[in-house]
Amino acid sequence: MRLRNISGSREVIADSKYVIQNATEQKGKIKSFFEKDQPLQIEIGMGKGRFIMALAEQNPDINFIGIEKYSSVLLRAIQKMEQNELPNLKFIRMDAEDITEVFEQGEVDKIYLNFSDPWPKDRHAKRRLPSKEFLKRYDEILKKDGFIEFKTDNRDLFDFAVEQLELAGWKAKVITYDLHSDPVLNEGNIMTEYEEKFSSIGNPICKYIIYR
Ligand code: SAM
Repeated sequence: MRLRNISGSREVIADSKYVIQNATEQKGKIKSFFEKDQPLQIEIGMGKGRFIMALAEQNPDINFIGIEKYSSVLLRAIQKMEQNELPNLKFIRMDAEDITEVFEQGEVDKIYLNFSDPWPKDRHAKRRLPSKEFLKRYDEILKKDGFIEFKTDNRDLFDFAVEQLELAGWKAKVITYDLHSDPVLNEGNIMTEYEEKFSSIGNPICKYIIYR
């Protein structure tokens, strides 16, 4: 998701109390940005934040951080928080490549990846958020018994992701190629913006939950 460059978005982000600023300088201090000391879950590539905002609203006993690379996209999430402030949700504008510079070892309880960019060219495979290179980074920051949940309608990306998890030594707790048709797995499912868009045109949604 790359919205038109919205002028002033960087300034709004720099002034926003919902955003953890200079995140790489906050390693070890992330907890201090929340009112309560409770488990931490993160979404990487949250887009405009619909999924993580609903999750944070439904789970006040968990702290959440939404990570997004582009200012113009993050701006939309900030605007939504201004309408509906959630004390257990913060945002970080960063490239997830630097995730180990922000979170301490084992600090994160769960990671969500939703409709990650497919990067279809082979030479860009390392940029895919479920690639083995990224799984290595998640391995550092995720608690020992933590999980990663990944959803996409892109079958090529999903097949790649399943292949990568095995290569990187992770195991699947759940794999489905049609989440919305599975009443058990779909129970309580929060739709992301992309999920709404692609399922409405008939694309089945794939999902895995993995651990190591
Ligand atoms: N998760 C949302 C959803 O399901 O509706 C948005 C999906 S959109 C296709 C992917 C989002 O991930 C975009 O907003 C993009 O900017 C962000 N993104 C892609 N690569 C990223 C990275 N390396 N670090 C942080 N965000 C990234």
